[in-house]
Amino acid sequence: MSTIIDGKKISEMVRQEYAEEIKRLAGMGVVPGLAVIIVGDDAPSKIYVRNKGIACQQVGIHSEIIEMPEETEQSELIEKIQQLNERKDIDGILVQVPLPKHINPEVVVASISPDKDVDAFSEINVGKIMIGRQRFLPCTPAGVIELLKRYNIEISGKECVMVGRSDIVGKPMAMLLMQNDGTVTICHSKTKNLAEITRRADILVVAMKKSRYIKADMVKPGAVVIDVGMNRDENGKLSGDVDFDEVSKVASYITPVPGGVGPMTITMLLKNTITAAKHNHGIE
Ligand code: NAP
Repeated sequence: MSTIIDGKKISEMVRQEYAEEIKRLAGMGVVPGLAVIIVGDDAPSKIYVRNKGIACQQVGIHSEIIEMPEETEQSELIEKIQQLNERKDIDGILVQVPLPKHINPEVVVASISPDKDVDAFSEINVGKIMIGRQRFLPCTPAGVIELLKRYNIEISGKECVMVGRSDIVGKPMAMLLMQNDGTVTICHSKTKNLAEITRRADILVVAMKKSRYIKADMVKPGAVVIDVGMNRDENGKLSGDVDFDEVSKVASYITPVPGGVGPMTITMLLKNTITAAKHNHGIE
């Protein structure tokens, strides 16, 4: 049986460390501030945004949730972002996706100051990740790296296989594994003989959006398996992209869903907001 990587526990531990850091910053007159903009009435987005606000409150980050109606024009949203770009008390700006169809998310992200882009989705911040000069890391991949480190799982020299190549998870995750000296293979929907490749992995990271797709015979015995997937069935029950019951019998370490990668994503957003505040106030 594998060791279950407890993302909830690690997340709480890391957040306590951040709360201490925020106290130290408060002593210097700096309170990190995060603005989260939500456009429209998407129910899951509202829950995510609320959870981000609660997480900020717990560690002492000032947070503002800005709710805009579904029919908001793109130009109005950009104007709001520009106002936030100018504000000294706001260090991080995040626009919750999905946005209504008439709004182009790329244009919106590009209007966020790169110094306040705590999701690290803008072209400038994505480019910095490519050359290893990032200030912010995208939250989900950063959370995975943090989990591996906290469990003392060595990445250097390991065969790492990333299943999924999305801009927000797969690609940056692969870059971070490589920056940590892993030997990385990236798989996607056109990959032939997926199981043959996943079976080579010492560290297998899966972000496919395909419920319980990865079975035990696709995993090398003793591999570390990180499941980024979050899929909801018709009853709202959450499952990962890995068949946890099967794969936990062969893996050495495995993340559960829920309670694995998920909690770390918001935790890394807190980290990015603190990093932004330090930079914006000239504290490094
Ligand atoms: P996405 O944009 O839909 O990307 C899915 C990726 O999986 C694509 O690159 C796709 O390949 C690949 N794929 C699909 N079917 C495949 C197959 N049969 N074989 C190999 N590769 C296949 O999804 P995403 O935004 O990266 O998210 C992935 C999952 O992570 C979702 O379940 C999402 O909810 C979850 N997620 C969780 C968190 C968290 O905090 N835990 C954060 C973000 C996302 P192509 O590129 O060829 O289409």
